[in-house]
Amino acid sequence: MIPFDNSYARLPQGFFARVAPTPVAAPRLLALNEPLADRLGLDSNWLAGPEGLAMLAGNAVPDGAEPIAQAYAGHQFGGFVPQLGDGRAVLLGEVVAPDGARFDIQLKGSGPTPFSRRGDGRAWMGPVLREYIVSEFMHAMGVPTTRALAAVATGETVWRESALPGAVLTRVAASHIRVGTFQFFAVRDKTDALAALTDHVIARHYPTANGPLSLLDHVVARQAETIAHWMALGFIHGVMNTDNMAISGETIDYGPCAFMDAYHPDTVFSSIDRAGRYAWAQQPQIAVWNLAQLATCLIPLMGERDAAIDAATKSVHSFAPLYQAAWRRRFGEKLGLTEAADAQPLAERLLTLMAQQRADFTRVFAGLADGAARDEFTDRAPFDAWAADWQARNPDPALMRHANPLRIPRNHRIEEAIAAAVAGNLDPFRRLFDAATHPREGRPGWEDLAAAPRSEQIVHQTFCGT
Ligand code: AMP
Ligand code: MG
Repeated sequence: MIPFDNSYARLPQGFFARVAPTPVAAPRLLALNEPLADRLGLDSNWLAGPEGLAMLAGNAVPDGAEPIAQAYAGHQFGGFVPQLGDGRAVLLGEVVAPDGARFDIQLKGSGPTPFSRRGDGRAWMGPVLREYIVSEFMHAMGVPTTRALAAVATGETVWRESALPGAVLTRVAASHIRVGTFQFFAVRDKTDALAALTDHVIARHYPTANGPLSLLDHVVARQAETIAHWMALGFIHGVMNTDNMAISGETIDYGPCAFMDAYHPDTVFSSIDRAGRYAWAQQPQIAVWNLAQLATCLIPLMGERDAAIDAATKSVHSFAPLYQAAWRRRFGEKLGLTEAADAQPLAERLLTLMAQQRADFTRVFAGLADGAARDEFTDRAPFDAWAADWQARNPDPALMRHANPLRIPRNHRIEEAIAAAVAGNLDPFRRLFDAATHPREGRPGWEDLAAAPRSEQIVHQTFCGT
């Protein structure tokens, strides 16, 4: 039996709708994350058995679970939507792990809820497997992120552009509370609910925070770290709407996300991001924009209005120096340099060269430790000049090997794995997952997964995949 303790379900009524997952026709386990099950104190054998599978598919609600769909609002591409909410997910409940850490267990793709609007509440196998791989890669690299406990095929068809096999992802998160959760109450002038949410978040995520302003400071600092880490991996979230930014600082809602192959700061993959609002280089500014929305929500809780606005503004502006420090540290480590070495100008010079020559982001950094980076440049002279200046600082290969993955889950590999899975072959998915979750390990047989795509393999666009 799973020891649920559902603190969110004890919040006042307007925070959620009670709704059970909708059962599916023929559940089949696609993947189970045993290390994560262990971390949560759950029994992998039980999860993989008939009762566990029924839970992971949404066909049975286990004892102690109190399934709910959470209410939230959000700015989508800058436009405010007062009501979004879990339209294709339910929170089964919260589990307290053996070490005392609390986790949400959520089913994504589990059927309609009162927040589904015109959606079917379902997900197809593609985005489920994509999130499973990418979120676990991010975790392996130490990026704060929601995680994937299981993926289950539903045995049902989901209709998108075509008929596709349905699936359910079991997502594990510190919580699913978003900037948009605060916006949901703020736009309705529900100050009591905002205060209750603030208290809940402080107790759950930031126990050292002493009030709404301090909470804002904590969230700003956490997001600055997370976004800098994304940047250091060439990660593009793709839909940084306020409803897709977690208060915990975890990366959440992997949709049209992608890692860059060839480096350029303006890279965008999402088919719906036509203006490049969420391009790689935009992500820190967008984080500030989102945090300003959170600040706006918290101001009514912060006492006298003018003073509150000043303090909240200052807090949001603290993002820039925190982010820049995190960026310097992350990119410094990628170059094998500690903070004392003032690596920023070197990192910027290298990135400029990479952009000019569209060098592969992952391969250049991974190649610094063994001398292969040079091969990623067609015009080697400027790289050699850079490398001479860099070598003069005595870079530490161990630091580089830790910071730079040998492999990222490349877009073309993910698509290949999804296509095979849809056709009934899970081997490419399993192999890619294994390699992605051991990103620093140079195992023989994985060389092809470290290669950049050939021109005909390049993925130019990714889709929300809802
Ligand atoms: P996203 O852009 O994936 O973060 O989703 C934005 C909103 O659309 C959220 O409120 C989702 O719950 C909702 N949504 C996305 N896909 C579906 C779907 N297939 N059925 C119902 N609601 C959905
Ligand atoms: Mg979302």
